[in-house]
Amino acid sequence: MKIVIIGAGPAGVSAAETLRAHDRESEVIMLTAEPYPPYSPPAMVDHFLTGSDAHLWRDPDWAEQAGVDYRKGVEVTAIQPDTHSLQLKDGSGLEYDRLVLATGGGLYAPLEGADLAGVFNFKSLSAAETLIKKVKSGSASTAIVVGAGFIGMEIALLLRELGAAVTQVEMLDQVMAAMLDADTAAVALDILRERGVDVRLNTKAAAFVGEKQAKGIQLESGERLEADVLIAATGIKPNLKPLEGSGIAHDWGITVDEHLRTSVSDIYAAGDAVETTDRLTGETFVHAIFPNAVEQGRVAGLNLAGIDTRYEGADRMNSLKHLGLPIMAAGLKSGDEVLRTRQGGHIRTIYLEDNRIVGFQLVGDVTAAGILRSLMNQGENILPYKDRLLNPNFGQGMLVWDAIAAYA
Ligand SMILES: Cc1cc2nc3c(=O)[nH]c(=O)nc-3n(C[C@H](O)[C@H](O)[C@H](O)COP(=O)(O)OP(=O)(O)OC[C@H]3O[C@@H](n4cnc5c(N)ncnc54)[C@H](O)[C@@H]3O)c2cc1C
Repeated sequence: MKIVIIGAGPAGVSAAETLRAHDRESEVIMLTAEPYPPYSPPAMVDHFLTGSDAHLWRDPDWAEQAGVDYRKGVEVTAIQPDTHSLQLKDGSGLEYDRLVLATGGGLYAPLEGADLAGVFNFKSLSAAETLIKKVKSGSASTAIVVGAGFIGMEIALLLRELGAAVTQVEMLDQVMAAMLDADTAAVALDILRERGVDVRLNTKAAAFVGEKQAKGIQLESGERLEADVLIAATGIKPNLKPLEGSGIAHDWGITVDEHLRTSVSDIYAAGDAVETTDRLTGETFVHAIFPNAVEQGRVAGLNLAGIDTRYEGADRMNSLKHLGLPIMAAGLKSGDEVLRTRQGGHIRTIYLEDNRIVGFQLVGDVTAAGILRSLMNQGENILPYKDRLLNPNFGQGMLVWDAIAAYA
């Protein structure tokens, strides 16, 4: 059997490794449009800060060891399910018996001028390298980041660390609105400002402006801001380009069943390109985080190996590593009851629905994250030990059941 995986991100790598653990016979070919070995996007900031290879999360000889025919710099331009073949950018073709779509996500910038030269993003190592080279070489010393979501915050902090003067505009009234509640976001904002980022909330960018090259941004208020580099951090969208004309069903992301099979039965999909169900709410959505990509790759790999496996649903989760103060958020940020404690810089907020944890936000001390997440995912009724959930020692170093026994 010839299995082709499009994409060498966490989803593609996880699919290949899982498949190989159960199937040494099939030929496995992995294609990536980028010129690199597999890398971890979350570790790109560390890589650029320290110059280390922190982002290379697999050994240099990973593909050889795993028995994967790794082909970098190869872009798939079309998929033809009827003939089981792919078209590649260099004009050649490639046939497959089974296919995995792990094409990840790209920049989503619904903003005039976003495609002008000089508008950078941090969505891939290729994109980030061009930007960071400009700053490190000294040819750019001022930057504007549009958007203060998770990736926007990471870029703003990185550029400040590298010595650039950074202005960040955010149309909403808080940072990381998709993930953080207002209290937690206020802590993150304070730190961002302490680090010297000029964050402007309630400030909407209408367009990137410039002739052939973007020179600045036009705000909805009419004001114009200029900088040496402009970064769009306005969101991500599933990378569906190679699917065009293939008939593979998609909505915002690729549509899959509970085995992560697409509308074409011999094609699976995993990672940021895919819409799956939310483990908690059952809603269909794309929640683009590393652990979801790895787990979806694992499930696709198992099913490809003939081991019937259902995907349990995606987690809503995020953590901020580069603020200097750990912040961790999971699940929803509302509920019929809110438990909250604040001691100095430490905040613990837990959202409940019918005495079940549906979300939590931790600032400072994040050691309870593991147990809170387990309780949330298991849908445990926490009534017997509700009054202990805010205890700083709750669950420290314990397994879920030990903790429940101790506090119940
Ligand atoms: C700066 C940054 C920081 C992040 N930090 C965190 C974090 O702290 N925690 C967390 O959980 N998540 C984080 N994420 C998100 C996480 O990196 C993604 O969820 C994860 O990488 C998704 O994996 P994936 O395999 O689906 O896609 P990707 O990692 O995006 O990989 C997609 C692959 O597809 C290939 N590809 C795409 N189109 C084609 C084509 N047509 N032909 C051939 N190859 C193609 C690409 O070359 C690439 O190899 C971060 C992301 C970024 C950008």
